[in-house]
Amino acid sequence: MDFRELLGRTFKGFLAEEEAKRLYDLAREASRLGACLEIGSYCGLSAAFLGLGCREGGGVLYSIDHHRGSEEQQPGEAYFDPDLLDAKTSRIDTLPLFRETLEELSLVGTVIPIIGRSAEVAAHWRSPLALVFIDGGHTFEAAFTDYNSWVSHLIPGGYLAIHDLFPDPAKGGQAPWCVYNLALASGLFEALPTIGTLGLLRRAPCGTVTSAAAAAWEKLRP
Ligand code: MG
Repeated sequence: MDFRELLGRTFKGFLAEEEAKRLYDLAREASRLGACLEIGSYCGLSAAFLGLGCREGGGVLYSIDHHRGSEEQQPGEAYFDPDLLDAKTSRIDTLPLFRETLEELSLVGTVIPIIGRSAEVAAHWRSPLALVFIDGGHTFEAAFTDYNSWVSHLIPGGYLAIHDLFPDPAKGGQAPWCVYNLALASGLFEALPTIGTLGLLRRAPCGTVTSAAAAAWEKLRP
Protein backbone atom coordinates (compact mmCIF):
# COMPACT_ATOMS: atom_id res chain seq x y z
CA MET A 1 0.00 0.00 0.00
CA ASP A 2 1.24 3.46 -0.89
CA PHE A 3 1.99 5.34 2.33
CA ARG A 4 -0.24 8.17 1.12
CA GLU A 5 -3.16 5.81 1.49
CA LEU A 6 -2.48 5.89 5.23
CA LEU A 7 -4.14 9.28 4.90
CA GLY A 8 -7.24 7.72 3.34
CA ARG A 9 -6.40 8.46 -0.30
CA THR A 10 -3.53 9.51 -2.52
CA PHE A 11 -2.49 13.15 -2.30
CA LYS A 12 -0.23 14.95 -4.74
CA GLY A 13 3.28 15.69 -3.55
CA PHE A 14 6.94 14.82 -3.46
CA LEU A 15 7.81 12.97 -0.27
CA ALA A 16 9.19 9.48 0.40
CA GLU A 17 7.53 7.25 2.99
CA GLU A 18 10.48 7.28 5.42
CA GLU A 19 10.65 11.08 5.14
CA ALA A 20 6.92 11.41 5.84
CA LYS A 21 7.18 9.23 8.94
CA ARG A 22 10.17 11.19 10.22
CA LEU A 23 8.33 14.49 9.74
CA TYR A 24 5.38 13.11 11.69
CA ASP A 25 7.61 12.01 14.61
CA LEU A 26 9.54 15.27 14.55
CA ALA A 27 6.38 17.40 14.60
CA ARG A 28 4.90 15.35 17.42
CA GLU A 29 8.01 16.00 19.51
CA ALA A 30 8.61 19.64 18.47
CA SER A 31 4.99 20.75 18.85
CA ARG A 32 5.22 20.11 22.60
CA LEU A 33 7.97 22.76 22.74
CA GLY A 34 6.40 25.45 20.55
CA ALA A 35 4.82 26.29 17.21
CA CYS A 36 6.04 24.60 14.01
CA LEU A 37 6.39 26.17 10.58
CA GLU A 38 6.67 24.86 7.04
CA ILE A 39 7.77 26.77 3.95
CA GLY A 40 6.28 25.26 0.78
CA SER A 41 2.76 23.87 1.31
CA TYR A 42 2.07 22.76 -2.30
CA CYS A 43 -0.99 20.46 -2.06
CA GLY A 44 -0.50 19.57 1.60
CA LEU A 45 1.25 16.20 1.62
CA SER A 46 4.01 17.18 4.05
CA ALA A 47 1.59 19.45 5.96
CA ALA A 48 -0.60 16.35 6.46
CA PHE A 49 2.18 14.40 8.20
CA LEU A 50 3.52 17.42 10.09
CA GLY A 51 -0.04 18.41 11.00
CA LEU A 52 -0.97 14.95 12.29
CA GLY A 53 2.19 15.06 14.44
CA CYS A 54 1.31 18.55 15.72
CA ARG A 55 -2.23 17.46 16.55
CA GLU A 56 -0.81 14.55 18.55
CA GLY A 57 1.56 16.92 20.40
CA GLY A 58 -1.15 19.53 21.00
CA GLY A 59 0.53 22.18 18.83
CA VAL A 60 0.12 23.97 15.52
CA LEU A 61 1.79 24.13 12.14
CA TYR A 62 1.94 27.37 10.14
CA SER A 63 2.31 26.51 6.47
CA ILE A 64 3.53 29.25 4.11
CA ASP A 65 3.14 29.26 0.34
CA HIS A 66 2.21 31.80 -2.33
CA HIS A 67 0.43 28.85 -3.98
CA ARG A 68 1.49 29.92 -7.48
CA GLY A 69 3.93 27.03 -7.89
CA SER A 70 7.73 27.14 -7.88
CA GLU A 71 9.86 27.77 -10.97
CA GLU A 72 9.92 24.10 -12.02
CA GLN A 73 6.12 23.74 -11.67
CA GLN A 74 5.23 26.38 -14.27
CA PRO A 75 3.74 25.42 -17.70
CA GLY A 76 6.40 23.85 -19.91
CA GLU A 77 8.71 23.03 -16.95
CA ALA A 78 9.68 19.57 -15.65
CA TYR A 79 7.21 19.43 -12.71
CA PHE A 80 4.22 21.11 -14.38
CA ASP A 81 0.90 19.46 -13.44
CA PRO A 82 -2.05 20.56 -15.62
CA ASP A 83 -4.50 19.67 -12.79
CA LEU A 84 -3.14 22.67 -10.89
CA LEU A 85 -3.76 25.22 -13.61
CA ASP A 86 -6.57 27.65 -12.76
CA ALA A 87 -8.63 27.92 -15.99
CA LYS A 88 -9.80 31.42 -15.12
CA THR A 89 -6.37 32.94 -14.61
CA SER A 90 -4.18 30.43 -16.55
CA ARG A 91 -1.92 30.42 -13.48
CA ILE A 92 -0.94 27.64 -11.09
CA ASP A 93 -3.07 27.58 -7.96
CA THR A 94 -2.35 24.89 -5.35
CA LEU A 95 -4.50 26.47 -2.62
CA PRO A 96 -7.78 24.63 -3.43
CA LEU A 97 -6.09 21.22 -3.16
CA PHE A 98 -4.20 22.29 -0.04
CA ARG A 99 -7.47 23.27 1.66
CA GLU A 100 -9.07 20.03 0.53
CA THR A 101 -6.24 18.05 2.17
CA LEU A 102 -6.69 19.90 5.48
CA GLU A 103 -10.46 19.50 5.42
CA GLU A 104 -10.35 15.79 4.56
CA LEU A 105 -7.90 15.06 7.38
CA SER A 106 -9.66 17.34 9.89
CA LEU A 107 -6.52 19.42 10.22
CA VAL A 108 -8.21 22.80 9.92
CA GLY A 109 -7.20 24.68 13.09
CA THR A 110 -4.05 22.59 13.51
CA VAL A 111 -2.48 23.55 10.18
CA ILE A 112 -2.79 27.27 9.60
CA PRO A 113 -2.24 28.34 5.98
CA ILE A 114 -0.34 31.55 5.36
CA ILE A 115 -0.59 32.75 1.76
CA GLY A 116 2.44 34.78 0.85
CA ARG A 117 6.17 34.81 0.23
CA SER A 118 8.25 33.47 3.09
CA ALA A 119 10.56 36.50 3.45
CA GLU A 120 7.59 38.89 3.54
CA VAL A 121 5.88 36.81 6.25
CA ALA A 122 9.14 36.55 8.21
CA ALA A 123 9.71 40.31 8.17
CA HIS A 124 6.99 40.80 10.84
CA TRP A 125 7.17 37.40 12.56
CA ARG A 126 7.75 37.54 16.31
CA SER A 127 6.94 34.06 17.66
CA PRO A 128 9.65 31.57 18.57
CA LEU A 129 9.47 28.29 16.64
CA ALA A 130 10.30 24.71 17.64
CA LEU A 131 10.48 23.38 14.07
CA VAL A 132 11.18 25.00 10.71
CA PHE A 133 10.81 22.82 7.62
CA ILE A 134 12.30 24.36 4.46
CA ASP A 135 10.70 22.87 1.34
CA GLY A 136 10.10 25.91 -0.86
CA GLY A 137 11.76 27.10 -4.07
CA HIS A 138 14.87 25.31 -5.26
CA THR A 139 16.90 28.21 -6.62
CA PHE A 140 19.81 29.20 -4.38
CA GLU A 141 18.21 32.60 -3.83
CA ALA A 142 14.89 31.05 -2.69
CA ALA A 143 16.45 28.39 -0.45
CA PHE A 144 18.94 30.79 1.12
CA THR A 145 16.26 33.46 1.66
CA ASP A 146 14.06 30.89 3.43
CA TYR A 147 16.94 29.86 5.68
CA ASN A 148 18.08 33.39 6.37
CA SER A 149 14.53 34.61 7.07
CA TRP A 150 13.59 31.93 9.60
CA VAL A 151 16.72 30.61 11.31
CA SER A 152 16.72 33.30 14.01
CA HIS A 153 13.20 32.29 15.13
CA LEU A 154 14.27 28.77 16.15
CA ILE A 155 14.43 28.13 19.88
CA PRO A 156 17.44 26.31 21.38
CA GLY A 157 16.60 22.61 21.07
CA GLY A 158 14.36 23.35 18.04
CA TYR A 159 14.66 21.54 14.74
CA LEU A 160 15.61 22.71 11.27
CA ALA A 161 14.56 20.28 8.53
CA ILE A 162 15.55 20.82 4.88
CA HIS A 163 14.03 18.76 2.08
CA ASP A 164 15.59 17.66 -1.24
CA LEU A 165 19.24 17.23 -0.26
CA PHE A 166 21.25 15.86 -3.17
CA PRO A 167 24.98 15.67 -2.40
CA ASP A 168 25.46 14.32 -5.96
CA PRO A 169 24.71 17.12 -8.47
CA ALA A 170 23.73 14.49 -11.07
CA LYS A 171 20.74 13.55 -8.88
CA GLY A 172 19.23 16.96 -8.16
CA GLY A 173 19.59 20.71 -7.63
CA GLN A 174 22.25 21.87 -5.18
CA ALA A 175 20.54 24.76 -3.39
CA PRO A 176 19.02 22.81 -0.44
CA TRP A 177 22.29 20.86 0.03
CA CYS A 178 24.26 24.09 0.00
CA VAL A 179 21.94 25.69 2.58
CA TYR A 180 22.12 22.58 4.79
CA ASN A 181 25.92 22.83 4.81
CA LEU A 182 25.77 26.54 5.45
CA ALA A 183 23.56 25.93 8.50
CA LEU A 184 25.94 23.27 9.77
CA ALA A 185 28.99 25.50 9.21
CA SER A 186 27.29 28.28 11.23
CA GLY A 187 28.11 26.37 14.40
CA LEU A 188 24.53 26.86 15.60
CA PHE A 189 23.38 23.29 14.92
CA GLU A 190 24.15 19.68 15.61
CA ALA A 191 23.44 17.32 12.70
CA LEU A 192 20.91 14.52 13.19
CA PRO A 193 20.83 11.54 10.80
CA THR A 194 19.61 12.41 7.30
CA ILE A 195 16.57 10.41 6.18
CA GLY A 196 16.46 9.93 2.40
CA THR A 197 16.75 13.50 1.11
CA LEU A 198 15.54 15.02 4.39
CA GLY A 199 18.30 16.81 6.28
CA LEU A 200 17.78 17.35 10.02
CA LEU A 201 19.59 19.71 12.34
CA ARG A 202 18.99 20.62 15.95
CA ARG A 203 19.59 24.14 17.26
CA ALA A 204 22.21 23.81 19.98
CA PRO A 205 21.42 25.21 23.44
CA CYS A 206 22.94 28.66 24.04
CA GLY A 207 26.45 28.49 25.43
CA THR A 208 27.37 25.13 23.89
CA VAL A 209 30.10 24.55 21.32
CA THR A 210 28.75 22.31 18.56
CA SER A 211 30.94 19.64 16.98
CA ALA A 212 30.80 21.56 13.65
CA ALA A 213 32.04 24.73 15.38
CA ALA A 214 34.83 22.79 17.14
CA ALA A 215 35.89 21.20 13.82
CA ALA A 216 35.93 24.62 12.13
CA TRP A 217 38.08 25.98 14.98
CA GLU A 218 40.57 23.12 14.55
CA LYS A 219 40.87 23.97 10.84
CA LEU A 220 41.05 27.76 11.14
CA ARG A 221 42.97 28.47 14.34
CA PRO A 222 46.39 30.03 13.84
MG1 MG B 1 10.50 18.97 -1.49
